[in-house]
Amino acid sequence: MEHTESYANFPVWIVLLSNIVAISIYALGTYILAGLGIVVAVLYLCYCFWIEFRVLTRSCVDCYYYGKLCGLGKGKLCSLLFQKGDPRRFVEKEVSWAKLLPDFMIFVFPLVGGVVLLVRDFTWLLVAMLAALIILSSGGNAMIRGSFVCKHCRQRQIGCPAEEVFKRNKNQDK
Ligand code: SF4
Repeated sequence: MEHTESYANFPVWIVLLSNIVAISIYALGTYILAGLGIVVAVLYLCYCFWIEFRVLTRSCVDCYYYGKLCGLGKGKLCSLLFQKGDPRRFVEKEVSWAKLLPDFMIFVFPLVGGVVLLVRDFTWLLVAMLAALIILSSGGNAMIRGSFVCKHCRQRQIGCPAEEVFKRNKNQDK
């Protein structure tokens, strides 16, 4: 990624935009899975909260943006909830596709649930919801991170193991 200006604190409009995309994915996923029953929808929401808790306690505590406004807004939230960690731990952390897999399940669970519901009872509303979920989870996330968040992230300049995984993957595709 070319060298660009990095933000000590991100502009609020970027934080709002990234959270609108994230919350829309959670809301779409919950709505789709509610078709399989309220228990499934509640379990999915609990899973979403667990993923957020996991990021806050395993990454944000050690991040440069702890106590600051990062592109996702979690640095500030983390400092309200958890003790500051060790910034060296962030850079030294082992990240792999296997370790990122739980994050992708946020998208995979409602996608699979939606396909099951479509086979059971086809509706164009469900098709539209699934299309919106796919677009937001792929293009939406890629646009937010590639154009607004990671591009201006000071932690990325210091060192970000997750970015290394994506970079490695991009280089392999070449
Ligand atoms: S940049 Fe990432 S790891 Fe750092 S505080 Fe924000 S969400 Fe957490």
